[in-house]
Amino acid sequence: MKFLCVECDRQMAFEERQLPGDGTLAAAFRCPQCSRVVALLTNPMETQLVASLGVKIGGATLPPQPLEMVRGMVTTGRDDAFDEGREPGAGSGPIWSMEARERLARVPGFVRGMVKRIYADYAKDRGIAEITPAVMDTARNELGLEGM
Ligand SMILES: [Zn+2]
Repeated sequence: MKFLCVECDRQMAFEERQLPGDGTLAAAFRCPQCSRVVALLTNPMETQLVASLGVKIGGATLPPQPLEMVRGMVTTGRDDAFDEGREPGAGSGPIWSMEARERLARVPGFVRGMVKRIYADYAKDRGIAEITPAVMDTARNELGLEGM
């Protein structure tokens, strides 16, 4: 959060900050050239919002991380959330070669089950009994799944 002294076209410097007990926040910024001072006063809800974004008034501003909550939910989710519990080789699904399993293991956990299923469905649709890295390459090109 920065203030610009329009008159001088100078960025104002953070001067002081008060956090009264009632939850309001006041921060003063002074123009280094003309010494004009502006104060920012926020209500408790705004203070809470700013605090929750990790923004430090006057100090270093941390990059906000709006996806933090989503990321936390995803990383604590089950790896096989999209997998429907199908074991490779068991039942109707195709089997996975050792190399293909190793490659699959490098896929980020939260999408691994989904990626595995995409390849399994691809192989099944084409009557491929064993998924190998070559099959994965072909599927990736055909399905446009670069990076999976
Ligand atoms: Zn000024």
